[in-house]
Amino acid sequence: MSARTDRAAPLPWHAAGWEALGQARAAGCLPHALLVTGPLGVGKRRLVAALAHSLLCAHPDGHGLACGHCRECELLAAGTHPDYLAVGPDPQSKSDEIKVDAIRRLTASDALTAHRGGYQVIVLDPAQNMNPNAANSLLKTLEEPSPDTLLCLVCEQPERLPATIRSRCQGLRVPVPPEPQALDWLRRHTDSAEAQTLLRLAHGAPLRALALEEEKRLPQRTRAFAGFVEVAHGRRDPVAEAAAWNEQEPAILLDWLVGWVSDLLRLASGHPAPRLINQDQSEELRRLATLLDARAGHQYLMRLFKVRADGYGSLNALLLYESLLLQWAGLFRPGAPAPGKRTSRRHGP
Ligand SMILES: [Zn+2]
Repeated sequence: MSARTDRAAPLPWHAAGWEALGQARAAGCLPHALLVTGPLGVGKRRLVAALAHSLLCAHPDGHGLACGHCRECELLAAGTHPDYLAVGPDPQSKSDEIKVDAIRRLTASDALTAHRGGYQVIVLDPAQNMNPNAANSLLKTLEEPSPDTLLCLVCEQPERLPATIRSRCQGLRVPVPPEPQALDWLRRHTDSAEAQTLLRLAHGAPLRALALEEEKRLPQRTRAFAGFVEVAHGRRDPVAEAAAWNEQEPAILLDWLVGWVSDLLRLASGHPAPRLINQDQSEELRRLATLLDARAGHQYLMRLFKVRADGYGSLNALLLYESLLLQWAGLFRPGAPAPGKRTSRRHGP
């Protein structure tokens, strides 16, 4: 496990982006604002940290990597470098918004002047959490950039940023690596025999896969899947199963549900060798696929997508799980009364 020792270096699949940044720097044309996007778990923050260290270090090496020993690197490691500013939601506040006060502090008269004579790096993360006033205030900074200041906006959902901000930043999309490269990296960071399953559940994002392992999600998923299958066979009460699911966050559970139902539809499609997310559960999924009406399964998947897209922050997770499991049970007993429908009208999103 060497995950912590090379923190200020980019990851293998960042190579093209890192090289482009190095070339821009050598040519003296680094942008003033960089919008770093990509899905959760591909190492956007890691790449931005490597860039910040590289720009602030007094003696970066031939690959542009920070030396790790100079005074600048020491200050960065201690979290006290005056020319590295991190802006995010107020940790004291319940809200996860980035508010206008945080941006105003940046634009205050001397904040945008490098104190140690080199670059100044400002990291705004997660940039999509800026509220409209904060975004307006940032726009003024982007219109009048300071020399030798690099503003990095780290963002999972760039579509939530105003177009006026996006258009004033140079985009840098961090890709999902090819599966062999991702697996190679993952296997060097975990002893888990389930690396491939972890990676598929993380939609190919290696850092997310590693987090799933560290959070011990696989055994939780196995338990939830057993209930999901038993409910379909009519051997488990959906309401009782919902109570068992209730300790799991909706974001995680909905992701699993979408994966299972998508896999069932892939199996039902008749393709001889469908590429499954839940390859390790394929035997049980294959049995279930023969019992599921594809059209009803598709409608159920659309509902899952809608629940996920509409947000479930204020929803009671237990009611959500009850509604989803009652509807799920109903798919396998088309002749029976459909408690799922009644319940989904009463509680459902
Ligand atoms: Zn250094």
